[in-house]
This record gives sequence, structure tokens and C-alpha cells, in this order.
Amino acid sequence: MNPQEQATLAGTTGSGAATTLKIFVGGRWVDSSAKTTGEVRNPATNALLARVPMGGTDDVERAVQAAQKAYPAWRATPPVNRVRPMFKFRELLEKHFEDIARICTLEHGKTIEESRSSVRRAVDNVELACGIPSLMQGASLEDVATGIDSQYFRQPMGVFAAITPFNFPAMVPMWFLPHAIACGNTFVLKPSERVPLSQMRMFELLQEAGFPEGVVNLVHGGKDAVDAILDHPGIVGVSFVGSSPVAHYVYKRGAEKGKRVQALGGAKNFVLVMPDADMARAASVSTESCFGCAGERCLANSVVLGVGEAYDAIKTRLVDEAKKIVVGDGTEGGITMGPVISAAHREKVLSYIEKGIAEGATLALDGRAFKHPKHPDGYYLGPTIFTDVKPDMVIAREEIFGPVLCVMKADTFESAVEIVKKHELGNASSIFTSSGKYAREYRWRVEPSMLGVNIGVAAPMAFFPFGGAKGSFFGDLKAHGRDSIEFYTDKKVTITRWF
Ligand code: NAD
Repeated sequence: MNPQEQATLAGTTGSGAATTLKIFVGGRWVDSSAKTTGEVRNPATNALLARVPMGGTDDVERAVQAAQKAYPAWRATPPVNRVRPMFKFRELLEKHFEDIARICTLEHGKTIEESRSSVRRAVDNVELACGIPSLMQGASLEDVATGIDSQYFRQPMGVFAAITPFNFPAMVPMWFLPHAIACGNTFVLKPSERVPLSQMRMFELLQEAGFPEGVVNLVHGGKDAVDAILDHPGIVGVSFVGSSPVAHYVYKRGAEKGKRVQALGGAKNFVLVMPDADMARAASVSTESCFGCAGERCLANSVVLGVGEAYDAIKTRLVDEAKKIVVGDGTEGGITMGPVISAAHREKVLSYIEKGIAEGATLALDGRAFKHPKHPDGYYLGPTIFTDVKPDMVIAREEIFGPVLCVMKADTFESAVEIVKKHELGNASSIFTSSGKYAREYRWRVEPSMLGVNIGVAAPMAFFPFGGAKGSFFGDLKAHGRDSIEFYTDKKVTITRWF
């Protein structure tokens, strides 16, 4: 069975198509050398979609060799020619847009609308990479001393790799791959072993777009594959997105091996609601932010901080808004929240809810009992809201990554700022206010580097840098935008005098 059939079969039936996925190496779909496989299941139904090989050193070795072999010719290909297959890839993504969105929903569980938005963001990144001939330009200065000129060129560096998480199967790999290869590098991707199917489909399109053999390679697996990537001397740099402990580990181990590393980690995002905010909007936007993608979003505002009298004004509105959420199979129309990723993750989220109750928070909306009438084995949870949450509670400190919203009171703007500043993570945050003064003050003082003013999901577009601060980010250059051009190139400075 070819990969297209695998993906299509996995994508269409969702009924136990237990095919083992292939890896893409040197322009061909080949068998992995893995001895074990993992399962890819549809979270909405628990149906087995495919088996994913849990590869390691051998698969990574083959992928890196193919990428190294492809590098000299790809590097020598002029940027204007390198972006031709990129334009074609963009065209193919548009043509198969619905197919990719459908596969994304099947393997991840998010609603089809959410999948469509994420595929759109993936396309945005491919479009950015199509502009590499302009973006990759260096700079020059005549007469740095009399008769001496200086200039720098941006040059590709070799083989880069990316390791990506489960929550945006189609989008996150496209934060890296297009930019890296457009700059003239070659590439190895290891997507999350829980959601490999969207990338299977996208790699078929990369192949069809006509990138030369070995420019892009796809391997599967978990920790063994990651370690093989981090330790491989043929890989010059690694982009990572996932939880903070793994991000830190990847950053340390990759840097020790002399690689460039950008590692985006986990999140606990606070939203301040000031008494002068438009409460109705703050409630509906924050609810969407927290419960969208079933809370499995690194930009989810999962803690609402009601400042002063805003606390009472916002908390009942949040519960009323959350009650409107329609939980179900994301492939069906009218659904506004899908299941979480796995049965184990559902249990983990449930254990956080139990912790919140034990810690004395008020369970204002309880989603634990939700059962899907047609899919009793799906990994569903209803929206859950805790009020009277205190900053030192586990539910306020740890990333739950599920449909659980914590609502906390801060007496003043100052105390709210202190709560945000004290938290060890700093991915994103938002403030709802009609005061420019408070909005500016908030932006100036808190660390989270993706900040929304009257916005629920402060997601930077492809042409802006994406990444957090404090324990949410390890490295210096962020994902996409101009940072990605910096990350995927070296600056060669030449100083010239002619006699
Ligand atoms: P994860 O850390 O479990 O896995 C991420 C990747 O690391 C996967 O490819 C996985 O195979 C690999 N991995 C897992 N455990 C490993 C280990 N012990 N050693 C080496 N590699 C390992 O994360 P996840 O559950 O897939 O994704 C959810 C997390 O990602 C959340 O914490 C979320 O906040 C974060 N995330 C962050 C951003 C961001 O922009 N900062 C974006 C999306 C997701």
C-alpha cells in the first residue's frame, strides 16, 4: 500500500486501518527499521487509524545521510529556483486544503473549523518562504575604511531538524520546514508520534511539488528518535516545540553537541480583565481562547484574573459562555469543542480537576460527566471552570492542557501583574481593558512575549516571531518571521580591498 493510500485510508475510514506508516527518506517512501510501533487513534471514536513505527538511530541515520547527500546541489541552487517548488507546494496545499484539514481533525480531534484555521496558518508560512530571495539578503557598506568595503551574505548551514508536538499536526512543522529549505538547507522532520498522518499527506505534496530527493525527509518515533537527532554530528541545528521539561532537555543536549537550538516549551497563560473592560466581549473571547482546541493550545488563556470588581462581573459570564459550547466529533457540523488527544490525557486532566476540588477551588462548571451518545469510547470532556482559585494552587501553577479554566481574583492591577510575573512560564498573556494606559503598562511590565490587548489568542502571524519567554522558551531566535531566517543561516562577512 503506498503512503497516499495509507493516509487516505487512515483519513477516510477511521475504522481500524492498522497499516504501519512508512518514513520518507531520499525522495522515497521506505520501511522504518523500528522494532516497535505505536498506535494512532481517532480521539473522537477511539478507532485505530494507523500504526506508527517508533524509529531511532537507524532511521535518523538514513534520513541524515540522504539530507547530507542532497545538500551541496540544493545549496548551489539559486534562491529564485529553490522557491519554484515552494510555490508549487503552496498551490498543492490549496488544492488539497480540505483533505489535510480532515486528516488533522481525524488524528487530533479538533473541530474541522479549527483544523482549517491551522492549515491556513501553515500555508501562510509557505508563502513567507516563497519570499526568500528578498528575505535572505545580506548587507553591505562601502568604505568601512578608505578603499575598503565590507559586506555580509547569509549562507545556509547544512542539515536542520525539527521535532514537533501533537497539538497542531499540520501547522507547527510548517513553522520550520519551508524557511529552512528555502534558505538552502536540507531537512529532517520528526512529527509527534501521536499525530503523524497530516505530515504524511503534506510530505506527499512536497514530493509532488518537485523538491529534489533528500531535501526533505520524514522520520517517526519518540524519545529514541529525538535523542538520535540531538546526538547526530551531521545535524547543525534543531527546532523543537513541546512541553517545557522536554524543551529544556532538547536545548541542553543539542547545545552540548554544538548545535543551534530553538526550543519552544509549555504555557500557563493569564488574561487580566480590568473593571473598565467590555465584559461581554472579554467573556466570550476568553472562553473561546481557553476551550478552543479543547484547551490543547499553547496560546490558550487558561487563567482569568479578574481585577477588583471585574472578578464578580466576569465569572458568571464565563460560565454562561462555556455552557454554550457544543462538545462532539469535530468532523460534524455545529461542534465547537472536540475531544482531548488520548484516553491517558483525559485521565490526566480529570486528575487536575480532582486536585482543584481538593485544594478548595469552587467547581462552577463541571465537565467530568460528559459522554458522547454515539461514541462512548471517545476521549471527551465537557468544559470545566473553577472560581475562587488562588495563585499557589496546583491548578493555577501547572499547565493542564485541557478544557479547564481557572478564575482568580486580584485586588488591584499591581497584584495581578505580580501574579503573572511570579509564574515560571511566560508564553502568552492578554489584557482586556478600555484604558490605553493600563494596556501599555501591562505590555511594558510582564514577560510573556506574545501579548494580546483585547485579544484572546495572541498568535503572531507567519511574518512575526513566534515564541515565549522564561520557562516557555529556550534559545534566542524564535520561530518564523525574520528570526527564522537568522536561525537557518550563518552570516559570512567579507572585507575587501583591491590594489
Ligand atoms: P511533548 O513534550 O510530550 O512532545 C513533543 C515532542 O517531543 C514530540 O515529538 C515527542 O515525540 C518528543 N518527546 C516526548 N517526550 C520526550 C522525551 N522524554 N525526550 C525526548 N523527546 C520527547 O509535548 P506534546 O504533549 O506533544 O505537546 C504539548 C506541549 O507542547 C504543551 O506543553 C504545549 O504548551 C507545548 N506547545 C508549545 C508551543 C509553543 O509555541 N510554545 C506550541 C505548541 C505546543
